[in-house]
Amino acid sequence: MGLSDSPGGDLEFAGVVPAATVQRLACDASIRRVLLGPDSAVIDVGRAFRVPSGAGRAALRVRDQGCVWPGCDRPSSWTNAHHVVHWGHGGDTNLNNLVLLCHRHHWSVHEGGWQLVRSDDRRILAIPPSHTYQSWTRAPAQLATG
Ligand SMILES: [Zn+2]
Ligand SMILES: [Zn+2]
Repeated sequence: MGLSDSPGGDLEFAGVVPAATVQRLACDASIRRVLLGPDSAVIDVGRAFRVPSGAGRAALRVRDQGCVWPGCDRPSSWTNAHHVVHWGHGGDTNLNNLVLLCHRHHWSVHEGGWQLVRSDDRRILAIPPSHTYQSWTRAPAQLATG
């Protein structure tokens, strides 16, 4: 869920990964909830479908035709469906909330700090992360006057 101080996730063969990575992977994946009791006994195995259906994915491919990142020409076969509002934050898995992004640009949004917004004329704009750099130089010391 990306809560502060919460663990990210564990990947087989990769170990611990940040929450942003978990969200990127979960954007276009089927998720199954497994509830464990305090004694690690399985209490419930639920099912949740977070991926677009076959028809929904076909419609997404026809609409977006490839990665929607401005200037990116990677074809739809190289893309994943991205939830503009992540389903972990209440976003729906429907066409209004989905866009196709190639691997590189999907990473840019989840881990790289970029934001995707839709302009009034329905174009996708990519807004770079706003970093605040610490200055390594100091201002000259004030000279005592008078
Ligand atoms: Zn995504
Ligand atoms: Zn791309």
